[in-house]
Amino acid sequence: METSEERIARVRRTPVGLLTEDEIGLLDPDGQIFARRYQARVAREAACPGHERILTATREQSNRGDHRGECKHCGKDMSWDSGD
Ligand SMILES: [Zn+2]
Repeated sequence: METSEERIARVRRTPVGLLTEDEIGLLDPDGQIFARRYQARVAREAACPGHERILTATREQSNRGDHRGECKHCGKDMSWDSGD
C-alpha cells in the first residue's frame, strides 16, 4: 500500500505530460499551474491543423540572427537562432 508521501514522491518523478488531473492536484500550487499550462499547450499544439511559422522578432533581433517566431494557429514556439 502506497503512503501519501510515496505517492507525492512518485508524482514528482513523473513527466508533467503524463500526469492525471488527480496527480496534478497533489503538486504544490506553482507545480499545478505549470502542469496545467504545459498540458494545455501540448493539447493545443497536437490539435493544430499544420504549423505555419510567423515571425515575431523585431528587425533589431533579426539583424542579430535571432529569428523569433511562432505558429500562427497554435502559438507553438518556432524560433530559430542563425547565430551559430
Ligand atoms: Zn501550430
